Amino acid sequence: MPDDCLFCKIVNKETDTRFLYEDDTYVVFKDIHPAAPVHLLLVPKTHIRSVNDLTPSHQSLVGGLFQLAAKMAREQGVDQSGYKLLFNVEKGGGQVIFHLHLHLIGGWNR
Ligand code: 5GP
Ligand code: ZN
Repeated sequence: MPDDCLFCKIVNKETDTRFLYEDDTYVVFKDIHPAAPVHLLLVPKTHIRSVNDLTPSHQSLVGGLFQLAAKMAREQGVDQSGYKLLFNVEKGGGQVIFHLHLHLIGGWNR
């Protein structure tokens, strides 16, 4: 893991970020600058730079990420009203934290 990766620091509990969910593979926390009433970041604990760096060995990790997204959406009460799932990929795609994460955004019309 790169020393300067903020999300590795968060995963390693080197910040006071509160987790809404944690298991051996993922953590979930609120985005510090929410773009909507519900804006969560779903983050694999392992350091992967971006979608570009996924390999076949990450297949279950990525599948699990989407299962987790559906679970978090239910818990946040946005599963029926609807939500967006977003990966920003590299600088031109709006990525600013180079540690793979899935944005879960919703809650406008609950
Ligand atoms: P990206 O643009 O890389 O896909 O998204 C990174 C997200 O991380 C941004 O939406 C930004 O607001 C969020 N973020 C950046 N620093 C922190 C932080 O220290 N804590 C939390 N909770 N979110 C952060
Ligand atoms: Zn990292």
